[in-house]
Amino acid sequence: MKPKPVKGMNDILPEVSATWQYLEGVVREIVQSYGYSEIRLPLVEHTELFKRSIGEVTDIVEKEMYTFEDRGGESLTLRPEATAGMVRAGITNGLLYNQRQKLWTAGPMFRRERPQRGRYRQFHQFDIEALGYAGPDVDAEMIIMSSRIWSRLGISRLELEINTLGVPEARARYRDTLVEYFTSVKSELDQDSIRRLDQNPLRILDSKNPDMQGLIEAAPVMLDFLDDESAEHFDTLKALLDAAGVRYTVNPRLVRGLDYYNRTVFEWVTDALGSQGAVCSGGRYDGLVEKLGGKPTPAIGWAMGIERFVDLFEASGGTAPADDADVYVVAVGDGAVNEAFALAEDLRDRIAGVRVEMNLGGGSFKSQMKRADKSNARYAVILGEQEIADNKAGFKPLRSDEQQASVARAELAPMLASKIGKPLTAGQ
Ligand code: ATP
Ligand code: MG
Repeated sequence: MKPKPVKGMNDILPEVSATWQYLEGVVREIVQSYGYSEIRLPLVEHTELFKRSIGEVTDIVEKEMYTFEDRGGESLTLRPEATAGMVRAGITNGLLYNQRQKLWTAGPMFRRERPQRGRYRQFHQFDIEALGYAGPDVDAEMIIMSSRIWSRLGISRLELEINTLGVPEARARYRDTLVEYFTSVKSELDQDSIRRLDQNPLRILDSKNPDMQGLIEAAPVMLDFLDDESAEHFDTLKALLDAAGVRYTVNPRLVRGLDYYNRTVFEWVTDALGSQGAVCSGGRYDGLVEKLGGKPTPAIGWAMGIERFVDLFEASGGTAPADDADVYVVAVGDGAVNEAFALAEDLRDRIAGVRVEMNLGGGSFKSQMKRADKSNARYAVILGEQEIADNKAGFKPLRSDEQQASVARAELAPMLASKIGKPLTAGQ
């Protein structure tokens, strides 16, 4: 019997990994250009960390976490998101002690959701966090940074929604009104919402049930309960976005699925991917560091779902630069293999970023040329006994009707470099 993969956990195959690498490279370059540094975190944390940060009464903690007891009897959980681990690492490594940190990380996250397009049980995120920054300038900068990613990649079918959740006291006042409202329509609520009414009424606003949407639309909005300082914070954020030319809509019902957010929340949504429209989401979490045992530290962060990002990039007509080989080295005759290895190494030494595929496993000239063709390489370099004796190499274009040639070995690297448009390394 063939082994089966775990449901909702996908292999990322070579034909798509070029796009992943390309997009990851672009995001990495952009976030680093804003001064963010990489931190690599464990995939597994104590269950308690997620319960305390994400919140007990959330979809993630109630039904989506992969939680298990390890052999020592500790309850551990595969991380469903990165912020909790990031804050934990900041505290345990003393990174937040009188310091500010701009950090990013990327990797797999795990949530036991119902798998469908854009929703998997192992998925991947880019996660960017600024710890120790009160904003709203950093809030704006983070949004501007995400906007740069889209424009750099020619992705346009994305809209920015922003909202503010105020401070906890303002949210408590809002909560009372919300409970009153949802109680008055209790007979129309679904099971989840009824339960949430007592435990975490704001979560009702995050319901994905289409039957709940009408009630949610008619619910009172947080904006009417906002404290003055949060209102000012929000106004400044909007002014900064306006000045930067970043368009947004205020969605007063945007609450996000995790409990730790306050003030600014935002989401980039698209209509290009069916119902899984949130590509990138985030917000401010000024209380979380303290809640997890650190000093009070304002912070904000966002995460991008890489699967949805890749999907959207392709739906926007984007393609990653091909990662096919530039040249395939063919060695005919036993004596030629040593020379061919040396030649392949020499090309890798002398041409920056060249992709050289060496024929492996021998074979006749004909079968090697077949492999060369299948490899999608643009050129074949051919070494036989005659070429070796003459200190030359055969040079054969595989994808164009350029002439085949016999080239002096010293000329090969400069010629190939200019044909494939890659530079010779320094000193060559
Ligand atoms: P959704 O509303 O789609 O469930 P979310 O609010 O749970 O998203 P976050 O926890 O904010 O999402 O995660 C940030 C990003 O990670 C999302 O915007 C989305 O792109 C991606 N994401 C979240 N859950 C999944 C999943 N199960 N599979 C693939 N991507 C996901
Ligand atoms: Mg979700």
